Formats: sequence, C-alpha cells, structure tokens
Amino acid sequence: SQGLMSGKKGLIMGLANDKSIAWGIAQACHAQGAELAFTYQGDALGKRVFPLAEQLGSKIVLPCDVQDAGSMDAVFENLKEQWGKLDFLVHAIGFSDKNELRGRYVDTSPANFQLTMNVSVYSFTAVAQRAEKMMPDGGAMLTLTYFGAERVMPHYNVMGVAKAGLEASVRYMAMDLGPKNIRVNALSAGPIKTLAASGIGDFRYIMKWNELNAPLRRNVDQAEVGKSAMYLLSDLSSGVTGEVHHVDSGYHVVGMKAEDAPDI
Ligand code: NAD
Repeated sequence: SQGLMSGKKGLIMGLANDKSIAWGIAQACHAQGAELAFTYQGDALGKRVFPLAEQLGSKIVLPCDVQDAGSMDAVFENLKEQWGKLDFLVHAIGFSDKNELRGRYVDTSPANFQLTMNVSVYSFTAVAQRAEKMMPDGGAMLTLTYFGAERVMPHYNVMGVAKAGLEASVRYMAMDLGPKNIRVNALSAGPIKTLAASGIGDFRYIMKWNELNAPLRRNVDQAEVGKSAMYLLSDLSSGVTGEVHHVDSGYHVVGMKAEDAPDI
C-alpha cells in the first residue's frame, strides 16, 4: 500500500479501551499502513485490548506491567523473535493514586511519589533501552505528556512533577539516541476523557475551562492526537527530535483571553 507508515512495524503500549489515546494513535498509524503490536496491563484490560487489536489486524498482543522488568524483557524478546526489527514505539502510560490527584501537591506521600515516577517517567526510559536494541537502522519513539508539566494545573499535582521529568527524559534520550537516527518526541495533549483522566479531580471543569479559553474554543479528541502522533512517528518528521509538541487547541499559548473588562 501507499500509506505514510507502510512497511513500518510499531509497538503500542498503553491501550486500555476504545477511549484510550493509544487507540487514536493506533488507528491513525494503521490507516497509513503500519503493522502494530500491542501490550496490555493485566487480564482485565486484556479482554478489551484483544478485540481492538484484532480490528487492526494485529497478531502480537502481549501482557506487560512496566513495574516488572521481566515482563518488559519478555515483550521485547517476543518482538525480536517475531519481527526482528522495530520501527517505532508508542508509550501512552501513566499512573498515580487518584487520592493524590486532588488537594495540595505539597501533601504528596513518598510511596505514591515513587510509584508515579516509576510508572509515568522511568518506564519510558526502560522500554527505550530495550527498543533501541531493535532499531539498528533508526526509529521513532513517542510518549504522551500534559501541560501540567509546564504550569500549575488544578489537581494534577505529582503527575505534573512526573510529566516535567518525562519531558526532560525525552530531551536526554533524543541526544543519546540521535546518533543512531532514533528520534524521541512527546505529544502534549489537551484534556481528553479517558480512564486515566477520570482519576483527576474536577476533570470535567478542567475540560470546560480549556474549551472556553483555548484559541480553537474547543477540546481535542483521540483522533487528533492520533494524526499528530502519526506525523511524529513517520518520515514526515524526519528532522524532528527532542520535541514536546502540543495538541491542545492552542491552550498553552494563552496568557489571558480578551473579555469585556469591568469598570475598575
Ligand atoms: P488510559 O487510561 O486509556 O491509558 C493509560 C494506560 O496506562 C492504560 O492502558 C494503563 O493500563 C497503562 N498503565 C498504567 N500503569 C501501568 C503499568 N504499571 N504497566 C503498564 N501499563 C500501565 O488513559 P489515557 O488518557 O489514554 O493515557 C495515556 C497517556 O496520555 C498517559 O501518559 C496520560 O498521562 C497521557 N495524557 C492524557 C491526557 C488526557 O487528558 N487524557 C492528556 C495528556 C496526556
């Protein structure tokens, strides 16, 4: 086929259901001819992921918990056997205790701080280490981040600190892997209603605020994140690495929206 991703093989990590950002990305890559493999976290999510993977003709669907190094090793050993090489990797994984995604950041517990950093930051580096070995001719890696890394957003708390670390890790890995023609980028998505987002306090209000104040005056959806991901994973972005690209209706550029000012 003539797709922009035809002949490319990619691993998608972080598909939970058909609301997942990973699903929007998988559909966009599939539409351009990519061959995909998926991982899922645990059997309960696996029940949802298998039929979705089948819809896109994927034959490789493997369990993986990024807190378990052995399970990551097993995924890449399996891919090595079945595919030999890998062209791209999508990391759409994050986690924090929802009890700490409300209230004050300063009250964050040490245990949840470590858990959040491990699952939401280190896991991208951990899978990049393994994927690098399967990209002898170069490749593209992509993770998902949020504006809460750059500015304080209500309730995002420890997740904002984690996303700041994740974005810094994108820059360091871009430098480390650039000589091998492996590009590392992030998409900073605006708020989208997903399973993970439902854990964030007042999420509906954050979405409404974004809709009312972003330049495009609306929210983005999974398909729009998918299209931008397809750009960063394909040769269209062959000169782009270390980038954090915002897909957020432009919200990140706004200082203040013009309104009729009250008399003061
Ligand atoms: P989602 O719930 O569909 O996906 C989150 C995924 O993380 C799930 O598939 C879950 O299984 C996986 N995960 C969590 N802990 C894991 C572990 N230990 N091992 C393996 N997988 C694990 O929600 P989503 O919103 O699509 O989230 C995908 C990414 O997008 C996350 O990094 C999230 O922070 C980011 N993001 C989301 C939004 C939003 O508004 N939804 C905005 C910007 C960034």
